Amino acid sequence: MSQEIIEVMEPEQDDIIQSWCSISEAGNLKEGYDMERFTDSPRKDFQCPICLGVVRNPLECSQCGILLCKKCAFSCSKPQNPFFIMTSSVLKFNCPICRSRAAPREPSSILKKIINSSVVYCKNKLHGCPVSEALGEIKNHEKECKFKAIRCANHGFCDKQGNKIDFISVEFSKMGKGSYPTKSKLVCSDVCRKVVIMDHLLKTDQSEKAINEYRIVLEQLNKISSF
Ligand SMILES: [Zn+2]
Ligand SMILES: [Zn+2]
Ligand SMILES: [Zn+2]
Ligand SMILES: [Zn+2]
Repeated sequence: MSQEIIEVMEPEQDDIIQSWCSISEAGNLKEGYDMERFTDSPRKDFQCPICLGVVRNPLECSQCGILLCKKCAFSCSKPQNPFFIMTSSVLKFNCPICRSRAAPREPSSILKKIINSSVVYCKNKLHGCPVSEALGEIKNHEKECKFKAIRCANHGFCDKQGNKIDFISVEFSKMGKGSYPTKSKLVCSDVCRKVVIMDHLLKTDQSEKAINEYRIVLEQLNKISSF
């Protein structure tokens, strides 16, 4: 059967500049890491002057050395932004601190290592996750974090959201040509589990089995509503 986990989370951060924005909008974007995520308050030098978070994918002004998130530096290269200018069609960096127009550069690998070794709490701390790890490592944990917010995979009919830890896993071994890896879906209840299985059976032309599952679901729903 096929399946993926439907996550209800902020989109993955990447280097794609999605839209131009004013400096105040940039502040709202919070590209950098929230100060509160750090177990010890991070050095002021690591704070992006645009979004005020700790720099994510940092770039460094080649003149004054200030660090900025890559996205913050580029997303604010808008003509009306006081810190950035546009010459012909080329967007030009204009450092918010020293006004240097030299393109920002990658900080040294040592500096990046130091930033990445700052310890942060898992972003699901508020959902109960006790884990804290180095900034450079926490993503690996967060991918597997049992406390991440997910949505029931029966999303056509059920809009239940919750922590991964409270959901039921449905394993599918995908049928068809070739050998497909086993996948799993997470659902909120046994009824949703059955619906997801039924859906899979229908999609893989196993309608007879699907009808059986459908009967079971109907019976269960009858039981629930007769309470
Ligand atoms: Zn920033
Ligand atoms: Zn500068
Ligand atoms: Zn976690
Ligand atoms: Zn559900």
